[in-house]
Amino acid sequence: MTQVDDCIFCKIINGDIPSAKVYEDEDVYAFLDISQVTKGHTLVIPKEHTKDIYHTQSGAAEKLFARVPKIASAIKTSFQPIGLNLLNNNEEPAGQSVFHLHIHLIPRYGAEDGFE
Ligand code: 5GP
Ligand code: ZN
Repeated sequence: MTQVDDCIFCKIINGDIPSAKVYEDEDVYAFLDISQVTKGHTLVIPKEHTKDIYHTQSGAAEKLFARVPKIASAIKTSFQPIGLNLLNNNEEPAGQSVFHLHIHLIPRYGAEDGFE
């Protein structure tokens, strides 16, 4: 897999930065976001370093998105949310702060989850 030295998500995949693993297979890694918008807030990333949705190669995006339903179901079982938002930020003006493609899975618990 192509990885980039100064990328924090590549370091997480390598285990150089610790993370709370939610799911892993040969193509994809999922882990809890360090800043939990709500309980169980998870990031799903390709193991191949990919800057954003515009720079996917060899089916990386298809593999990434294909895993989301399974990971969403695992989050639903573990955290019992009453809803779930998917979010993918591309480029800085859209809110991307880590330039390794990722999908946010944000469980929702009703008005009291504090995330409107
Ligand atoms: P973005 O703003 O690029 O869509 O999302 C990047 C996310 O990565 C943020 O929600 C941020 O909290 C998360 N993040 C940044 N650094 C780390 C880290 O070292 N570990 C984990 N688990 N999440 C991180
Ligand atoms: Zn990376």
